[in-house]
Formats: sequence, structure tokens, C-alpha cells
Amino acid sequence: MERKVRAFVFVDALGWRQVERYGFLSDLLPYRREIEMQFGYSCTAIPTILTGERPSVHGHLAFYDYAPERSPFRAMRLLAPFLRPRGFWRRGRVRNVLSKLIKRLYGFTGYFQLYGMPIERLPKFDYCEKTDLFVKGGLKPVRNLADVWSAQGMRYHISDWRLPESENFRIAADMFRKGAVDRAFVYSAAFDALQHDNVGRDDILRRKVEAYAESVRELHRALSEGGRPFELTVFSDHGMTPLRGTVDAPAALGRTGLAWGEDYASAIDSTMARFWWLKDGAEAKVRDAFAGFPGHWLTEGEMRRHGIWRDDRKFGDAIFLADAGVQFCPSDMGVKPLNGMHGFDPADEDSRACWLSTVPVPEGVSRVCDYFKVMVSQV
Ligand SMILES: [Zn+2]
Repeated sequence: MERKVRAFVFVDALGWRQVERYGFLSDLLPYRREIEMQFGYSCTAIPTILTGERPSVHGHLAFYDYAPERSPFRAMRLLAPFLRPRGFWRRGRVRNVLSKLIKRLYGFTGYFQLYGMPIERLPKFDYCEKTDLFVKGGLKPVRNLADVWSAQGMRYHISDWRLPESENFRIAADMFRKGAVDRAFVYSAAFDALQHDNVGRDDILRRKVEAYAESVRELHRALSEGGRPFELTVFSDHGMTPLRGTVDAPAALGRTGLAWGEDYASAIDSTMARFWWLKDGAEAKVRDAFAGFPGHWLTEGEMRRHGIWRDDRKFGDAIFLADAGVQFCPSDMGVKPLNGMHGFDPADEDSRACWLSTVPVPEGVSRVCDYFKVMVSQV
């Protein structure tokens, strides 16, 4: 019997809210479910989608983890004295050029961006996406989608995340039309950036959602023309939460009198502040400094529930999560807040992701980490 073609289309940040609001493809994809986001960011969700494991296993939560002994940037400490004046190195354009330079210098094949990370702290950090996550062995020692599909003997296609999404849709449609693949993972990420800037701008978002609808219809037509039985599923990793306020962590930390790199280390992401305690007493002072901030310190129970608990404390000894809509600003990710952000508590209504399909949603699919078992199922 001819193998059924199973196509999965990933649309970054296509939240359940947006799907409902715009009635996204309710005719073509009638089997629909809201999905609980994986705690973290897209850099957490993608490894989760590609392995079915959570950060406690695959090790990807945020881009930067404090790890002086593992840092690939150790040699850069020799450069530190030359990295002044600081203002220059904080300019966006300079940092983009520098990011490209570092990526090339270190031979990183994954997505690399310095964001707002102070250059002088870089030698103390490890970066989680040094390799291309999508290709075979990309998440070693954990097996990823490419590993499994290839071991199953599938003819498969996984989009190149570096290409524009229009290309990715076109390439996939060509393959479907030829009946050339058994499994496909089509990647698109432009909606994430668009929503970061324009969350709540109905006119702009509706237009983009309609464009996605047309791209997915085209894939559906191509699959039909391919002449083989098929399933088509669209899913996402999270939604987008409008900006509701900011907190200034560096100012609060400055008032503690503690020294970064001696008393404590931190990585301030957009929605969470992660800490590693280097000296006794630092924790109490930082907790004091954060008292009154809109958010809370994650308990061990929450970290376990979110799949981010690790005995080696790779992600930090303590994590402060901002309330939904509140962004750390400035942070190690940037100096300005964005109109929209994700990476809050997965229970936040705006955070929910979606699973939309031509076939009934398989049992047990309620979280982002559940996608993988469906994608690799051989039924
Ligand atoms: Zn994003």
C-alpha cells in the first residue's frame, strides 16, 4: 500500500488567539486544538518540537547560560580591554556585524545573535544554538526529527530555516506536487517578528494570517495533485502577549552593591531573570531587590512542571518570571521593550499555541512537546 504523505507546517507565534480571531483555515483544517506552550522562547520550543523532549532533557531554554568552564567565547576575554567605549559596542548595527563575525569565527551553524549581551560577559557564557538543530545529529545526544525520519527510511523534507518562508512554501509545494516525499516539516517564522512589533494591529496581522492561509491552501492543492493520500497539519509554538509594563533589573541589581561575576551571575531575558549564586548572601540581596517587581520566583515544582528543572542548574539556580505582559527592560536581549512578547507563564491566555489539521487530533496532544510523537508515528 502506498504510504500516506504527512505534512506539518510550523508557523512561529501563530497563537490560538489569532487563529480564533481570524478564523484561520477553519474550513480546510477542521480538527483544531489549543495547545499549551512550552515554557521559554522559540529557542526552547523548536528543540522541543524537534525531539519531543523538554528543556530538562534537551538542554535548550534560553540562548545564554552562565558556564565559564564551557564557554566557547573564553578566548574573547583577551579582547575585553579593547572593547571600550561601551556605547559603541552596544549599537545595534555594530552588534549585528559582530554577531556575524563571531558566528563565522566559531563556525556556528545554528542561529546566532548577540542580542544585548554585554561583550565583556560573553567569555562566561555558553550559547545553546551552536549547531543547526534541524539536520541529522543537530540535537545530539538527543535524536531529532531528521534522525528519526531518516532511521525510519522515510523520504523526508525539512525546510531550511535560513531561507525566506515564501521559498520554503514553494519548495515544499513542488515536492508535494511530484509526490516526492513521505514526511515534511515546513518552517515559517516571519509572523513572530511581525507580531513582536504589531501585536494588536488587526489590519496588519489579518493580512499576514490571510497570506499564510493562502500558502497552506497552495500546499493542500499540491498534495492533492501529488495523487497520494495525505494529512496536512499546521501548528505553532506560542502566541503573543501585548506589552503591559517594564521592570529595570540592572538598576535594582546595581543598588544591591553586589558584583556581577563575583557574587552572582545573571542572564536577563525578556521575561525572566535567571541567576547563579556565586557567594553566600547574594541570593537574599537579589531577592530583596526584586521584591515588589510584578512577577515571582519559580518554585521547584513549577520548574518541574514546565520541564526546565535540571540537577546541574544549567538554566540557573533561581529564575524570576515576570507577570504576563511585563518585560525586563533593559535586558541582555535588548534595550527597548517590544510591543509584544512571549515567554510568560504557559497558563497565560495569550501564550497558547495551536494544532490545526485535516485529520482528527491524535489522543494526548495538548502540549508542544506532544507534536513529535505524532510526527514520527508510522501509522
Ligand atoms: Zn518571538
